[in-house]
Amino acid sequence: MPTLTAVRTMKTFVMKRIGEVGVMEKPIPSPGPEDAVIKTTAALICTSDAHTVGGAIGERENITLGHEAVGVIYKLGAAVKGFKEGDRVAVNAITPCWRCANCQRGFPSQCGQMLGGWKFANVKDGNMAEYFHVNAAQANLAPIPKALKDEQAVYACDMMSTGFIGTERAAVPVGGSIAIFGQGPVGLMSTAAARILGAGLIIAVETVPKRQELARRYGADAVVDFRKGDPVKAILELTGGLGVDGAVEALGSQATFEACVRATRPGGVISNVGYHGKGDFLELPRLDWGVGMGDKTIRTALCPGGSERMGRLLRLIEKGRVDPTLMTTHRFPFAKIETAFQLMRGKADGIIKPLIEF
Ligand SMILES: [Zn+2]
Ligand SMILES: [Zn+2]
Repeated sequence: MPTLTAVRTMKTFVMKRIGEVGVMEKPIPSPGPEDAVIKTTAALICTSDAHTVGGAIGERENITLGHEAVGVIYKLGAAVKGFKEGDRVAVNAITPCWRCANCQRGFPSQCGQMLGGWKFANVKDGNMAEYFHVNAAQANLAPIPKALKDEQAVYACDMMSTGFIGTERAAVPVGGSIAIFGQGPVGLMSTAAARILGAGLIIAVETVPKRQELARRYGADAVVDFRKGDPVKAILELTGGLGVDGAVEALGSQATFEACVRATRPGGVISNVGYHGKGDFLELPRLDWGVGMGDKTIRTALCPGGSERMGRLLRLIEKGRVDPTLMTTHRFPFAKIETAFQLMRGKADGIIKPLIEF
């Protein structure tokens, strides 16, 4: 008679179907030779989880949500070198294979296909769970420096990586000007990056007072409130009529995308990291785009992953260059995950980032 071993299970927070979430028991995953399984210690809820539940990427059945989490290595595949079980690690929201053509071409976020590096809560279970599986672990696990707490390191997984790449891609020269549209957690990290990367004039566009205040703390020289007038006009005034060297779209809407194109000077870059969650098309303002010949470049990026970049982002926190925990407005134990998610979904109670502790 075969011996029956009980399958060990864990609690996970899932999208049951479009519009419906809940807590579900699932078996604890086991790693293949190149993988790892992490025991989660801290996680952050992301607005993109709310987009997913709202149907932005189509139907998913009982998929575990979440893509911003840190923890300790619970089980490690035999082929993974340089780590051991029990190590504290951060895992980026994007976990590429690091082998396919797009990875080799330098676009790991587009691993295999467009947006293919985005696996958590998209094509496999995410990490809003007591344990989670990581593919290509050797390249996707980043050691957390001893001096950092989990609740600090967890910001490198998405908010810092995405916010920073928005500003990196805007490629503003030292002393140049940048406008960052939207001061949610991603936009706030774009603002922090602009200061670190040496922008000479940082303009944040935001209307919520708490976010305006944080934008200033992270380095904005001026905050433009789009409810109080045309933000493009304000940006032109602040730049002596020239427009900015770079604009970051950190919201994901037609209005802000368009304003980015209008506010950027010829030769400048519009850097989109906002998640455009609805509609079939985005429109360009034809005349402000120089009827297609204005030397205005539009770039896009999806949260770059990998341990090398994660190590650099974690170092910025460790050295005090940026304190992302200013964005932690709420804390919940994992048992209260549903309350936390609904709060995030409704953007209630001045929420910026809710931290989930395991
Ligand atoms: Zn996220
Ligand atoms: Zn790949």
